[in-house]
Amino acid sequence: MALTTSQKETIAEKLKSINGSCPICTHRNWTISDEIVTATTVSLGGSTVMGGPFMPMAQIVCNNCGFVSHHAIALLGININD
Ligand SMILES: [Zn+2]
Repeated sequence: MALTTSQKETIAEKLKSINGSCPICTHRNWTISDEIVTATTVSLGGSTVMGGPFMPMAQIVCNNCGFVSHHAIALLGININD
């Protein structure tokens, strides 16, 4: 499911309160992608379990250089179960 407009506004407000400049080109013009992405977690022993724990992340794309920044949505105030 795509992020709602309200969820994207919550993310934008949270990120505005932090340093919002791109680490590559220093521009401050970002787009929040509609979809969230996940990273599969891996144990220190090196094993990966398909369908195991994952971290949902917002994708923020720099409109100038295309740099993509991923942010754990739980820390941005987004609950994927809402
Ligand atoms: Zn950039």
